[in-house]
Amino acid sequence: MKKQNTISLILGGLFCLNILAWIAVYEVSQPRFLEVNFFDVGQGDAILVVSPQRHQILIDGGPNSIILEKLGKEMPFWDRSIDLIILTHPEKDHLAGLIDVLKKYRVENILWTGVVRDTSEYKEWLGSIQKEKANIFIANSGQKVIMPRTFLGILYPFENLEEQRFKDSNNTSIVAKLVFGQNSFLFTGDISKSVEKELIVKEIDVDSDVLKVSHHGSKTSSAEEFIKEVSPEIAVIQVGQDNPYGHPHPETLETLTKYGIKILRTDKDGDIKILCDFQSLKLKLKK
Ligand SMILES: [Zn+2]
Repeated sequence: MKKQNTISLILGGLFCLNILAWIAVYEVSQPRFLEVNFFDVGQGDAILVVSPQRHQILIDGGPNSIILEKLGKEMPFWDRSIDLIILTHPEKDHLAGLIDVLKKYRVENILWTGVVRDTSEYKEWLGSIQKEKANIFIANSGQKVIMPRTFLGILYPFENLEEQRFKDSNNTSIVAKLVFGQNSFLFTGDISKSVEKELIVKEIDVDSDVLKVSHHGSKTSSAEEFIKEVSPEIAVIQVGQDNPYGHPHPETLETLTKYGIKILRTDKDGDIKILCDFQSLKLKLKK
């Protein structure tokens, strides 16, 4: 494997001494589960992964500052830092909330594609990450974020896309697989069927227990062949109520139903929390 393709981001041992006591108290009261929170942020994606050691990874930030409310409910009051932020692709419904997160939280690491856009949010994002002084990583398949007993593997894009322009950035979305014991989650951003196909052709291991359905359930994603390869038990659709795009498309819902996959939707189920111990997948839905 090429050296520049590999980053090992080790999240650990970074806590300040004065908050160790708080962590000890907090951890005793918390079960040692991996938690994946799919927030109901309206039309957009925002996912908070919390490792059993309480490391936090935020994948996308949704379309606005509602993310701050969601994080406030999930994170301890004294915790004002996030270990890693991942921006799957620089579109408003994934990016805008992250600008608010960067204002309120200290962010240690940022992983994104570096793809260029001409929007006002994009300019604000660039300014914010420059100010943050976080470690910045440009996504490339083969990278791994390593935490104790847990890792997040970057599956796509297959090459560094930094400073490149695209008519549509959906197909530049970071695809990542989170593995914890027997459990796995696939995060797909807004990739369309053509990228799903590329992943299959390159024989990338996309098989996962939980699938974050791409592009809010649009019919331009979730090809039947891809859904068969991933073969999830649970599919999560992050989508806004009565959105103007008609997401999720009935065709996508049909494909998921055909394979007996349990469908969860943030527009209907609200915030979705999936808890895993080392073996099982325990589902907790919050209203
Ligand atoms: Zn989107």
